[in-house]
Amino acid sequence: MKSTHRIGLLLALIFLVPALFFSVYEMSELNSDEKIIQDIYQKQLDAILFSVNQYSDDVIGSWIARIEPHLDNNLPKDSIPPKIYDLVGLNAALSGVFLVDSADGKPVFQLYSTAFKDRERLWNSISQTLADSASVIQQLIGYRESGFQKIYKLPLDRNASAGNYCLIFIHQRSDWDFKVGGLLIDPELFIQNVVGPRLQTAARDQFILSAVRKQGDSIAYSTSAPDTTNVTAEALTKDFWIFPDYSLGIRTSGTTLQQLARERTRANFLLLAGLDVVLIIGVVLVFRNLKKEVDLAQNKADFVSNVSHEIRTPLALISMFAETLEMDRVPTEEKKKEYYQIISKETQRLSGIVNKILNFSQTEANKKHFHFESLHIDTELNGILSTYQFHLKNKGFEYTYSPAGDIWVYADREALIEIIINLIDNAIKYSEDKKRIEINTGVEGTFGYIALRDYGVGISKQDQKHIFDKFYRVSSGNLAKSRGTGLGLSLVKQLIEAQGGKITVQSEPGKGSQFKVYFPLNNG
Ligand code: ADP
Repeated sequence: MKSTHRIGLLLALIFLVPALFFSVYEMSELNSDEKIIQDIYQKQLDAILFSVNQYSDDVIGSWIARIEPHLDNNLPKDSIPPKIYDLVGLNAALSGVFLVDSADGKPVFQLYSTAFKDRERLWNSISQTLADSASVIQQLIGYRESGFQKIYKLPLDRNASAGNYCLIFIHQRSDWDFKVGGLLIDPELFIQNVVGPRLQTAARDQFILSAVRKQGDSIAYSTSAPDTTNVTAEALTKDFWIFPDYSLGIRTSGTTLQQLARERTRANFLLLAGLDVVLIIGVVLVFRNLKKEVDLAQNKADFVSNVSHEIRTPLALISMFAETLEMDRVPTEEKKKEYYQIISKETQRLSGIVNKILNFSQTEANKKHFHFESLHIDTELNGILSTYQFHLKNKGFEYTYSPAGDIWVYADREALIEIIINLIDNAIKYSEDKKRIEINTGVEGTFGYIALRDYGVGISKQDQKHIFDKFYRVSSGNLAKSRGTGLGLSLVKQLIEAQGGKITVQSEPGKGSQFKVYFPLNNG
């Protein structure tokens, strides 16, 4: 496996996989956290509603308990005990009390608040419903005999009772004498006067409790007035035990706990996702940096071996011909001259390599001093080509040069020459069958450019991204055969950028390449 792949895998295993596992786990936990919070909240609300219902039952129970002692003495017909009178007078919700002899269904007494207009219709309806409920009454008596007072809601015609509920209970006078007692209760007044204060205490500032008319979903009472909220916004609703046409609703005032839980979950979720994104970006950055370093180290290692090879060949030639000359084994003067020429050529090659390396390290360390001046591109190129044309012809190259006229740029002469020579050298090195170089010049924006086109092996898109990196050499194909240091284009780029210019490349494998170097125009 390639070392960069190994590093990538290692980084992913150490950082990404555990982090992603943790995130997935946490995210699934967040949902169950929210559910737990909601459950607790639901139970709390449930308990409050239960206590309100319980309280309503207790109030009815206490009213019956207060009525019962005064029913004991033999009441003369239609006389109403004053205590019961008082109770009805004091509690607006209690709109009536009656007592009926269970044996014949005849009323012992009836007491109604002034609210009732049509009393006769009411009583007819009560006595009719009581007669219809004879079996239930027998059951209630049975409960009473065994010591349990059960309250029963008489299914009275609500029109006849003007919306009042009728609750009946059994009053036991002696072992065999049972009477049916009844309370007429106005539910709205009961909710407002009796349950209301209780709701207020339960609500405090934390909750909003409301009693809702099931028919039409309207609010009969609410602890927050005026309550304009939609009834369906209640977090929890429960039936009113004694008034089945009403329900009790509860929700927290302000943000609900559910909302809080949801917001918290959302915030945690975003935080986790954000952390994961940061981590992934971090790992990618670390990986890219490491990859760069690893590639650089690899290129450096290749560089050392390339340079060694580059140096070894001229050294071997020099040493061989020098030895031959030293031993005086050369027959003719002509041959001697040829050997001296080879030694001198190889020495030049050697110093060329050393110069390139020195030049590169100087430029890289920003130690190179530039002498900027106004240069006439055409003059410089003509100079370079006149010294290079012999070399080009020697290598079998033909070249064309088409200058675009007088272009003056602001640059360092030595650096400009070095750049062009490097590019010509590469064009020679990386051309195979079609040995042709085209050079032209021109102006683009604020730059004067020199373009160098060859018809050589070309460079793939992938390699084009790296050829300007130091020590980088294309490693595939025949290219590896031609020796080099991988410093040339990197040096060219450094030199051109130090002069405020730029370099571009256009190339297609098999078709050739064009390098274009731009220098700032000298307008002055
Ligand atoms: P070197 O030539 O010493 O290898 P350079 O930095 O000059 O180093 O070039 C880097 C790489 O770019 C070369 O290895 C070669 O593959 C590619 N290259 C440069 N110039 C050309 C060209 N004119 N045609 C094809 N490939 C080129």
